[in-house]
Amino acid sequence: MANDPTEEKIYDAIVVGAGPAGCSCALFLANAGREVLLVDKAASFPREKVCGDAFSGKSIGVARELGVLPNLEKKPHGIVRGLTLIAPNGKHVSVPFPNADGMPFAGYTVARFDTDEVFFRAASAHPKIAVLLGFSPDELLREGDAITGVAGALGADKKRMAFKARVVVGADGAASAVSRLLKLPNQPVNHVYSGVRGYYTGVEGLTENIELFFIDGVLPGYLWIFPMANGRANVGLGILSSDLNRERKHPNAMLADAIEKNSSIAPRFKNALLDGRMGGWAIPLGSYRKKCFGDGWMLIGDAASLVDPFSGEGVGNSLCSGKYAAVTIGEAIVKAPGSAPLSESALAGYGKLLDEYIYPEMVDSYRLQRASRFRFLLNMFIGKAADKPEARQMLVNMVNSDEEKKKTQSPLFYLKLLLP
Ligand SMILES: Cc1cc2nc3c(=O)[nH]c(=O)nc-3n(C[C@H](O)[C@H](O)[C@H](O)COP(=O)(O)OP(=O)(O)OC[C@H]3O[C@@H](n4cnc5c(N)ncnc54)[C@H](O)[C@@H]3O)c2cc1C
Repeated sequence: MANDPTEEKIYDAIVVGAGPAGCSCALFLANAGREVLLVDKAASFPREKVCGDAFSGKSIGVARELGVLPNLEKKPHGIVRGLTLIAPNGKHVSVPFPNADGMPFAGYTVARFDTDEVFFRAASAHPKIAVLLGFSPDELLREGDAITGVAGALGADKKRMAFKARVVVGADGAASAVSRLLKLPNQPVNHVYSGVRGYYTGVEGLTENIELFFIDGVLPGYLWIFPMANGRANVGLGILSSDLNRERKHPNAMLADAIEKNSSIAPRFKNALLDGRMGGWAIPLGSYRKKCFGDGWMLIGDAASLVDPFSGEGVGNSLCSGKYAAVTIGEAIVKAPGSAPLSESALAGYGKLLDEYIYPEMVDSYRLQRASRFRFLLNMFIGKAADKPEARQMLVNMVNSDEEKKKTQSPLFYLKLLLP
């Protein structure tokens, strides 16, 4: 069992937020013998989290490494094998995703209600992790310029508490309180998607592919239909927050409109029913490079703005950034034993890991996102891929390899597509 939180000791790390990023970081630290305090504002787990619920091969890899994959597989889940892209003109093409390591399929869909509970239970059962729920820091403790801990009010009776650590890790999502308390600039709205989603029953024609519909008024965002367990579907829409101002319409209304009127979508929803309520949340994209470490602090996951700017996938990068932060903290503690806050230079390895493993993908995905603003390009690309085996192969290669994705920066790529 996890131990009780205490105000007496100096933890190796305080992790604020027990979503995928926070649990990953806490578990990797604890598995390496570090003492962690994991706090979340939620009063209890499981709790709802608005998401498309796609759990990619990258996420599966980290879940396996943390030993939680068997528990995740016990939760109701759908299987994902590929991707179907639907152009604004209704043309569509399907391509397989590469299988996840050691799996005969590419990924899962699991409700985040369940996914996050699995990670949270693993963290709260770890003897090196103390867990505190119902706690949201409203103050960062400081020694000079360095962050040395957090303070805030606990639970309904608002008992004031303060905790100290060598590093405070902000894993508190898109509206990160840690980021705000650090006075970091707000994310520009052209680097944030506004996302909404609901669960539907009775959607016709579901397959084991995730479906992305590029529809007018939403580009470069899209509407998605993701197949879930038991014939349900996660149906949602993501649009750049900067474009929302132009459209002057709530994303819920855009989604409802498409379900009612779009000729590629409406026939699928003849007998569909919304199961529960729609939910919405921000999706902070990795096309904006946020400062994510300093003296005594780090940001990971959505708090660090690490969502793929094209696909909107964020769980994999959240889990990975949690791991990279934990590895960096571990190395920094070995180099500087004691109780002093870990310095910005000691935490610089985290930036290097993001540079090596996360940001290059962001650059390629951002390029794709920019291109997918153009209706004619989508119609041409998806249309050619649907009709022409060589163009379809280009798409399969792009989905399968980061190297191939890079080719979209070359004019030759578009020339090849244009050729009859
Ligand atoms: C509509 C939508 C669809 C999406 N679809 C997908 C998808 O299909 N696949 C995918 O991979 N990604 C998807 N994403 C992105 C994904 O949801 C995020 O990237 C992911 O949840 C980030 O994980 P995280 O741990 O960084 O933050 P979160 O999951 O947001 O977790 C943050 C945690 O911090 C806690 N917290 C927040 N504020 C405080 C505070 N002040 N004090 C203490 N605790 C706090 C919260 O309670 C929460 O437990 C989608 C996002 C949205 C909005």
